[in-house]
Amino acid sequence: MDENIDQLERRCPRLGGPVLFAYCKTSSDDHSVCWKIFDCWWECFDVVGYLKKILPEDKFKKLSNSKPKQKIVSLVELVEQAKKRVS
Ligand code: SF4
Repeated sequence: MDENIDQLERRCPRLGGPVLFAYCKTSSDDHSVCWKIFDCWWECFDVVGYLKKILPEDKFKKLSNSKPKQKIVSLVELVEQAKKRVS
């Protein structure tokens, strides 16, 4: 499953061309997860849940606590809550 996720592709707003999700997991200067990863991938799959599962807790918190990402995490949480209400 994780292998399939790594092969997902989308247009990168920073590079202007297609990238694989695998790239987004290592595209920061220090080869860690790109700070825009929640923003870019939340519509494709449960990127919050996925990263929460694979990242050490401190790294996940650091990633999700910056302001732009916090908004996206909140949005994803709202979508998840709405899905639960519907099902
Ligand atoms: S997460 Fe980062 S590297 Fe990946 S598509 Fe978005 S901006 Fe580009």
